[in-house]
Amino acid sequence: MKSDWTLDHKRLPAGAVLIVGAGLAGLYMALKLAPRPVFILTSRRSRKGAASAWAQGGIAAALSADDSAAEHAADTIAAGDGLVDPDIALLLATEGPDRVRELLSLGVPFDLTDNGDFILGLEAAHSRPRVAKVKGDGAGRAIIDVMLEHVQAADHVTGLIGWRAESLLPDGNGGVAGALARNDSGALLGIEADMTVLATGGVGGLFAVTTNPRTARGDSLGMAARIGATLRDSEFVQFHPTAIDIGRDPAPLATEALRGDGAILVGSDGLRFMDSYHPKGELAPRDDVARAIFAEIQAGRQPFLDCRTAIGDHFPEEFPTVFAICQSAGIDPRTQLIPVAPAVHYHMGGLATDSVGQTNKDGLFAIGECAATGVHGANRLASNSLLEAIVFGGRAAQHILSHDMPQRSADTIESQPWLSMGRQVSWTLRQGMTQYCGVRRNGRDLNILLEIIDSLIAKVGEANPLIASKMIAAGALAREESRGGHFREDFPEEATPARSSYLTLDDLG
Ligand SMILES: Cc1cc2nc3c(=O)[nH]c(=O)nc-3n(C[C@H](O)[C@H](O)[C@H](O)COP(=O)(O)OP(=O)(O)OC[C@H]3O[C@@H](n4cnc5c(N)ncnc54)[C@H](O)[C@@H]3O)c2cc1C
Repeated sequence: MKSDWTLDHKRLPAGAVLIVGAGLAGLYMALKLAPRPVFILTSRRSRKGAASAWAQGGIAAALSADDSAAEHAADTIAAGDGLVDPDIALLLATEGPDRVRELLSLGVPFDLTDNGDFILGLEAAHSRPRVAKVKGDGAGRAIIDVMLEHVQAADHVTGLIGWRAESLLPDGNGGVAGALARNDSGALLGIEADMTVLATGGVGGLFAVTTNPRTARGDSLGMAARIGATLRDSEFVQFHPTAIDIGRDPAPLATEALRGDGAILVGSDGLRFMDSYHPKGELAPRDDVARAIFAEIQAGRQPFLDCRTAIGDHFPEEFPTVFAICQSAGIDPRTQLIPVAPAVHYHMGGLATDSVGQTNKDGLFAIGECAATGVHGANRLASNSLLEAIVFGGRAAQHILSHDMPQRSADTIESQPWLSMGRQVSWTLRQGMTQYCGVRRNGRDLNILLEIIDSLIAKVGEANPLIASKMIAAGALAREESRGGHFREDFPEEATPARSSYLTLDDLG
């Protein structure tokens, strides 16, 4: 393996912050850090590479007079199935409304009534309408457009696009002093910084069927685990029941609001099947619907979403994004069925942090989907993740601005081999993760998967996606119970008491 790639070095000014990732968490935190100099590194442009720009449902917060932070927190805790940290859920719910109003004042064109009140949508497991939207299903794109406008105009922020962080720079005292990034030609850039913030999003790209952008490969989990960072609840992955099954990678999403509006799940014979799986039918919890759809596929029956009666001619105005996706695949959802399959959608687990994003490594913060603050537990409440990005991104910024942070220098900055996964290794990993660590799991399959991952590591080295996958699979093997998004055929019951898992790479031996 070639190891003499060109290596440049950049030292950020004292007190400057390096943010890795330009989704909502990274961009919002960058804005809130003003006037502190910020350097944002991202592998892809936000509109393409960030899940934030793809969000369809909206952003949840107690924004109406008859709602309260306590109720939002209670719904968040119930969804998380015993593993949500109640104080953190209350923080999210209490600070959320002002953060969302701030997005409005920054220019996000939320759907409002003539009186200027938010028009709020009701989503699964929320006890009242609470989801702020933009033109029905366009929230993510609109929020990212406004963030980019402000970040690009901000004097304190510098962006570097097209570089993927692949290692963290140790400071020689157990802390972190920046990151080493690589561009598509293999060139390396070492960026030394007093503070490093990871905001690289989710892990869907580690699985064969996902709604996530391709860059969502758990790079932060891999990089940080390799230097001893602790991961929390890494086994908890949320599967969206209704990705549109038209052979695209990533799979486009048919938002749950369609079922909320009365769309039903049917087989190719046109008959409803959810009634035989759950008393709440199509409105059963997300995991139950995902498992039912998975069971239908396993039994050789293609499931479909039937929106013809419930939504019909209103489809183009009410769900323009989904309508455009269907049309591009030659499906008219007003008159035809939409084929669906479960897909990896969200990672509840991640780098263990406190309420200001601090990891167990000095100088290293994590925010957004790659962090695990304890706010989602075993399952995320719908539309809580955009909120998490701004609440905890904002809190991390405030913390950094109000504390003197010591100067940190990298111990060494050296060239390193490019652990390129290549198509073959990538696909073997993704298929293995979906087959053996998917909607239904068991000990035998997870052991097979860990062997596959180890053989891939032996082949290409400790590439970040392989290490991230190993942490997820090991967490899933260790959790001998079924809870939230994690279902074990060999341990179908919940164990008591409910416990979060904390794992380091060393724990795996
Ligand atoms: C289709 C879809 C619909 C969704 N709908 C909703 C919704 O309605 N409401 C809701 O609350 N949530 C929704 N979610 C979840 C939500 O979008 C994400 O959880 C959230 O946006 C994550 O934000 P983030 O900033 O942490 O990560 P992202 O927005 O994913 O941004 C990650 C950034 O990191 C960059 N990156 C990744 N790896 C590296 C690396 N090694 N080096 C440098 N840069 C890197 C990426 O290019 C990107 O810029 C949805 C997700 C999907 C996929």
